[in-house]
Amino acid sequence: MQTTLIDFTLEITNGCQFNCTGCNVDKEGNSYPSEEEFDRLELLVDELNNNGFPAMNLAIGPTDIMTSFNKDKILLSERIKFFSQKFMKTAINCAFLDPFEENYIKLGKQLNWLLAGKMVKFVIPFEAFHIDNATYINKIRRRRDLVLSYMPDVLHTKTYLIINYEASIIYDREFNKNITEELILKMYDEKLFGDLHLDLILGSSRTNLREQLNSEKFIQSAKKLKTVKASAREKYGIKVDIAEIKNSEGRDWDIFYKGGKLYLMPFILEGLANFDEVFEVKTDWTVEGLYNSYNQSLIDQYDFAYNARECKNCQLIAQCSERGVHSLMQILNTEDCISPAKDIEHNISWTL
Ligand code: SF4
Repeated sequence: MQTTLIDFTLEITNGCQFNCTGCNVDKEGNSYPSEEEFDRLELLVDELNNNGFPAMNLAIGPTDIMTSFNKDKILLSERIKFFSQKFMKTAINCAFLDPFEENYIKLGKQLNWLLAGKMVKFVIPFEAFHIDNATYINKIRRRRDLVLSYMPDVLHTKTYLIINYEASIIYDREFNKNITEELILKMYDEKLFGDLHLDLILGSSRTNLREQLNSEKFIQSAKKLKTVKASAREKYGIKVDIAEIKNSEGRDWDIFYKGGKLYLMPFILEGLANFDEVFEVKTDWTVEGLYNSYNQSLIDQYDFAYNARECKNCQLIAQCSERGVHSLMQILNTEDCISPAKDIEHNISWTL
């Protein structure tokens, strides 16, 4: 049986000093779990782990940890420390834009205590107009390395620079042209960024996509992102395997704790977050409850896809349903394909 891994996100940081272009994360109202909720979350993760759903990633966000109002509450919390020990690695959202060196030293020491014996991954919001700026990128890398030098008991796995694709308009004044696509294609060029990995998100996924303007913006951006990904794969010759379409570590469940509720997102598109009630877990916070929620979502998505104009004859219906793409299309009220997989369909080798 294929393993289903658990990515668990605690949306608990509030406040951020920065205004990254197009940022849509909630900077307030991300409530910290009560003691009773922590008990329920711990029981759920234990139950998942004991039933063949390994707890792989914990993510702490959604705002910059260093400038959030409640950073010390989180970084000094015995409960977060205990909770993070249940996961293989923890992703920390950090912009690395704080100008004071001593704050990085402090962060390194705190994370070393919090995540001792485990792994860490950094997720860095990154504005695309810095994409050709080696000085800026090296500054981020130096600050990340300074933090890591105070974390001898934690293993660093990866650092991701996350670009909000919708907010990325890069203009070349000399040649009077928009070079956004061209520069974003460079993110696939490993030499440019060394040990920093780049990824694209569609920031507006976090808005209310049932509102027409948000929906139109999202659909338009998702389609453009599909094209960029397809042309990047053509240009850089990345072989696409169906295992990659299903995603690289087996089937994932992305579970979010936000504002006292749980949301189950089966890895939509490139791992987008959306807090529509369609994704809310309305069953018990147990393996059985989550599985019932997941199965009901699959049934609803198949029903939709077999009747949807672009999906009904497509060979990727199962993959898109597993990844929540059809739930998203229903929220967006569209039968237009929004999956990046579709434009590279001809390159897929079906090896599973
Ligand atoms: S790839 Fe597009 S058309 Fe095919 S099933 Fe997925 S959403 Fe529908």
